[in-house]
Amino acid sequence: MSLKEKILNLLYPKHYTCLFCHTEIDEALDICDTCQKTLPYIKDKVCLRCGQVVHDESEYCDNCKRSTEPWKFDLCRSVFVYTYPITKMIRSIKYDNAKYMFDTFGKLLTQLYLDHELTCDIIIPVPLHEERRKQRGYNQAEWLAMDLATSQNIPMDTEHLIRSTNTPSQTSTITTRKDNVAGAFTVTIPNIYHNKTILLVDDVITSGATIQECARVLKDIGGAKQVLALTLAHSPVRDTSLPIK
Ligand SMILES: [Zn+2]
Ligand SMILES: [Zn+2]
Repeated sequence: MSLKEKILNLLYPKHYTCLFCHTEIDEALDICDTCQKTLPYIKDKVCLRCGQVVHDESEYCDNCKRSTEPWKFDLCRSVFVYTYPITKMIRSIKYDNAKYMFDTFGKLLTQLYLDHELTCDIIIPVPLHEERRKQRGYNQAEWLAMDLATSQNIPMDTEHLIRSTNTPSQTSTITTRKDNVAGAFTVTIPNIYHNKTILLVDDVITSGATIQECARVLKDIGGAKQVLALTLAHSPVRDTSLPIK
């Protein structure tokens, strides 16, 4: 907190509430102590590639080990396990226009980036199809990436990676999801990311198919050297009741 903010707070004390449980808290921390302790932050050992929690000595999760296609994204890390109440919050930022949550979530993503000592040249939020973006009025991935881009002074590109087909938002199996995202993205200017490290930002990773497909076109068409990804949440070991992404 800056000196100016401290003085303003003394003169005009504000009332802050926890973003998750709405109890009153003293400072603009956004999340109260109780919630900090109980929220499903990812703290355990994770898959070196996709960031999925692994419960044994393996370096990679079963999903990554089983994958027969070449790995296109180099690394993904996430703040939370995609379970309640995070599932509910993410639904709110996507469908209930709960924009006030982006500030906290954006800061958590910035912290994740710093904690993992990542570096990148360009941030690219995973794009929505133009139709869906118009319906929703915003792309939640772009809002999530905002704090990282501004606080770390990293350029954000929302123009050259585009979603060319409007894939359904919910499908039942990983296989259908992969088929759905195959060819869904493209880079509009060949080689525009020549030799660059790109950081993708999205709300959730489940099967990894979306991130994988974005990374494929960023490298194959855009010429990117490396593709990293940060998401707010990572699905626990596959739960078929949740939308696959
Ligand atoms: Zn709380
Ligand atoms: Zn993995």
